[in-house]
Amino acid sequence: MSQDKKPYISVVIPVLNEEENLLELQERLVFTLSKMGKPYEIIYVNDGSTDGTQKILEKIHHTWPNVKVIEFTYNCGQHLAILKGFEKSSGEIVVTIDADLQNPPEEIPKLIQKIEEGYHVVGTFRKNRKDSIFRRIPSYLANIITSYLTGVKLKDYGCMLRAYRREIVDYINMCSDTSTFIPVLANIFTKRIAEVEVEHEERKRGKTKYSLFKLLRLNFDIVTNFSIFPIQFIGFIGVIIAVLGLMFAIFLFIRRLVVGPEVEGIFTLFAILFFFIGVQILALGIIGEYIGRIYMEVKKRPRYVVKKELL
Ligand code: UDP
Ligand code: MG
Repeated sequence: MSQDKKPYISVVIPVLNEEENLLELQERLVFTLSKMGKPYEIIYVNDGSTDGTQKILEKIHHTWPNVKVIEFTYNCGQHLAILKGFEKSSGEIVVTIDADLQNPPEEIPKLIQKIEEGYHVVGTFRKNRKDSIFRRIPSYLANIITSYLTGVKLKDYGCMLRAYRREIVDYINMCSDTSTFIPVLANIFTKRIAEVEVEHEERKRGKTKYSLFKLLRLNFDIVTNFSIFPIQFIGFIGVIIAVLGLMFAIFLFIRRLVVGPEVEGIFTLFAILFFFIGVQILALGIIGEYIGRIYMEVKKRPRYVVKKELL
């Protein structure tokens, strides 16, 4: 229906090894979107899948007219996949959704409606989130830290069912960050953000693509990519410790004059020493993290490598 018209809604979907979910997703998306009666496009970004994903996506591309497929040569990460989809999108409203059907596509109209009310970004939070405790704890911590660092308090930064106005997507497209987290990036450009509650389903097929390590990495990325808070915090701690150390030295000196030299002070000294060593190693680690990032940037390696585009 909407082949030639400029799309009003673009749906961007990052896909990593989701062959079992794609057909159901596509059918439910088409059903929901065509009911809305506006022209739309669906953009799948295959993030280096090694299963039958690409084959199924190509079939979908040939069956439905308004489907674009972009294939990455290797796995570049969910957020870079979405960025590529953003670049190729042209809708007035751009929606991101996971391919695993944990976010029901039927919720999309709710988001569109919120955007039409005048918000620039609409996030979602998951009602009765159906994930394991090991998946929820890091998310919980990430939400607190991210809310604090970015100054935008959201209940659920991790839920990728989101909608953005065209201009926000255009701003995001101007950024050249290599490790990024889109919901946070979007917050930089607007404060008109709404959050709506959506259903969340268990993953019926396939398994999560986020190992604990990949999750930690992502959270670390959020903190270091969007702020220099850790480095400032360490500097601050350093100053406090230096002042305390100095006061302690003065105290020991006065004590020596009044009470006489300490006899068994060796262990106190060790304790203090270990503390200092610990702080130094931590500081080194954090500095290293930033230097690592600078290194990645100066290498100017492409953020992603596209193998195939079906537009
Ligand atoms: N994904 C991706 N690249 C990755 C990891 C994930 O494109 O490196 C996709 C994945 O196929 C899914 C979405 O991102 O569509 C969310 O991933 P997943 O459901 O595994 O994450 P979780 O729900 O456990 O947070
Ligand atoms: Mg999921």
